[in-house]
Amino acid sequence: MKLEQVKDIIRDVYDFPTKGIVFKDLTTAFKDPAAMKVIGATLNERYKELGVTKVVGIESRGFIGASILAYELNAGFVPVRKPGKLPADTLKMSYSKEYGTDTIEIHRDAITPDDVVVLHDDVLATGGTMMAAYELVKSMNPKKIYINFIIELSFLKGRDVFPADVDVNSLIVY
Ligand code: AMP
Repeated sequence: MKLEQVKDIIRDVYDFPTKGIVFKDLTTAFKDPAAMKVIGATLNERYKELGVTKVVGIESRGFIGASILAYELNAGFVPVRKPGKLPADTLKMSYSKEYGTDTIEIHRDAITPDDVVVLHDDVLATGGTMMAAYELVKSMNPKKIYINFIIELSFLKGRDVFPADVDVNSLIVY
């Protein structure tokens, strides 16, 4: 299977979670073994030479791709979660997104200055969620931060919220 075929498998769900949103449903790709393989292989190919030590996944759909990439790269996995879910001491950040506002947290000891980090989420919409995660991780002073998505909704121009020098990569662009 090719990445273009994964694009064909991803399901559009209209008016979810609210009216007017076309939700990109990746569960139809995640349940397909060949699609999972090509997603894993493409992610690995993109990041394997970059000395990545931690892959940060954004709750909850970002956990899937981030875990695959962490495993492929022999890197660690770090969760960014909704408030009150992480058990130990956390850093927090609030942000606005395509449908509402939210807060995310990361464990305060999750990233060290020795780390090279990939931040991963399933979908780039307005970029608010990932920008909050980027700021959280940046405040922990890692050596380098890369940003990755499986899907980018380019018409929402979410990419523009990130500083120009940050490497932002998406597997599939709509
Ligand atoms: P944003 O902060 O606007 O970039 O929103 C990104 C987050 O919301 C990601 O975690 C996505 O899972 C989810 N999301 C936003 N819009 C969509 C969409 N149209 N389809 C699927 N997921 C979306």
